[in-house]
Amino acid sequence: MSTSHAELIIIGTGMAGIGLARALRRQGDQRSMTLVSADSGDDYSKPLLSTGFAKKLTPHQLAQRSAAELGDELNARIVIHTPVVAMDVDNQMLLLDTEQAPHAEKLRYDNLVLATGAAPRMPFSIDSSVAPRCFTINDLDDYRRFHTALGQGPARVAIIGAGLVGCEFANDLHAGGHHVSIIAPETTLLPRLLPAPLGNALGDAFNEAGIGLHLGRAIDSIARSHGESIVLRLDNGETISADFVLMATGLAPRTALAKAAGLSVSPSGIKVDRQLRTSHQNIFALGDVACVDGVNAMYVQPLQASAKALAATLSGTPTTVSFGTWPVVVKTPLLPVVAYPPKETPARWRIEGEGGDISALAENKDGRLIGFALTGGCVRRKVELSRAAPTLLG
Ligand SMILES: Cc1cc2nc3c(=O)[nH]c(=O)nc-3n(C[C@H](O)[C@H](O)[C@H](O)COP(=O)(O)OP(=O)(O)OC[C@H]3O[C@@H](n4cnc5c(N)ncnc54)[C@H](O)[C@@H]3O)c2cc1C
Repeated sequence: MSTSHAELIIIGTGMAGIGLARALRRQGDQRSMTLVSADSGDDYSKPLLSTGFAKKLTPHQLAQRSAAELGDELNARIVIHTPVVAMDVDNQMLLLDTEQAPHAEKLRYDNLVLATGAAPRMPFSIDSSVAPRCFTINDLDDYRRFHTALGQGPARVAIIGAGLVGCEFANDLHAGGHHVSIIAPETTLLPRLLPAPLGNALGDAFNEAGIGLHLGRAIDSIARSHGESIVLRLDNGETISADFVLMATGLAPRTALAKAAGLSVSPSGIKVDRQLRTSHQNIFALGDVACVDGVNAMYVQPLQASAKALAATLSGTPTTVSFGTWPVVVKTPLLPVVAYPPKETPARWRIEGEGGDISALAENKDGRLIGFALTGGCVRRKVELSRAAPTLLG
């Protein structure tokens, strides 16, 4: 067993972990730094994963830098394919996975940052006979596996889930020439982002393009059919044949490490204050895993703002983070969507427009704008409405 020393350890090489490391170096911080990752450590932009099939992008093209190049750029040690399995907060040590690491290794930290992201939720277990044909895509390694499985020819892909990830991959795989269907228990698309009339407008655009929609339906079984085919049986008796299943059933912050070490966590993530500090003085968290003052937004702008603020704090200038009015831009070119969901249940939605061009304004009981959703040509109202709506974390 070897023991090495590092002043700052960042767990995770997603946009949050790498973003923080870059922000530190940009402001001239030269401390010794180690990034530990369970995945390949390649530097890539996760939002591009759901645009890759239309553009026929290989996993290699999506990786902007390899882990080795990243290590050179950041003047940092990057430990890849090595999950951290335990945190010993009393002795400020991390234990790395002993099965995958060639030598069992402990790392000592002075400051620790958790940027472990969020993992796909699996609402039901998948039988081993169909598991090789069922996928999730939440990082570049996942994209690599699915890309290889799809091969060259058009495939039938059944997507389970009607949220952002499910809808973006449906549009992208369809544009890439595949035959796509979506199955979800909710009755409209993007149910957490859009009121029903806008979800229906997106559904109409998907239907017209030939994407099969099976909404308001639960899955009774997923089984092997003839040859390599899979058959999904729905709760109304309907069956769908597919070559592959893509599970897009939501993400849960990876809080297990922090929880086991006694840090304060909630179902929304590791609890941090506005300086991104956890319940332990020298441990911080940012990105999809962090719940900042009650808010876990799980998209890029908040993690970029967090990386900037935390870099300043770690370099000696305590800095609190603020999140602006940053709507989510959903990458569904069949019908563009922008959404800024209200934090509280609105008193009413004011819905204007027709066809695919709809604006929905969420108002509180005093008539104040507290959120909005836009489709089609109305997405151009994004800037004007963002100026009027409250910030995400002021
Ligand atoms: C398909 C898709 C499209 C998206 N599109 C958009 C978009 O258009 N706009 C937008 O703003 N947002 C988008 N998002 C959300 C955005 O990409 C994420 O909010 C962001 O990438 C999260 O980054 P992260 O670094 O916090 O987490 P992750 O990227 O999940 O990184 C987590 C890292 O932690 C590592 N890790 C986890 N556990 C351990 C452990 N125990 N030991 C060691 N390492 C560990 C992982 O290996 C990984 O390196 C999209 C997300 C998806 C899935």
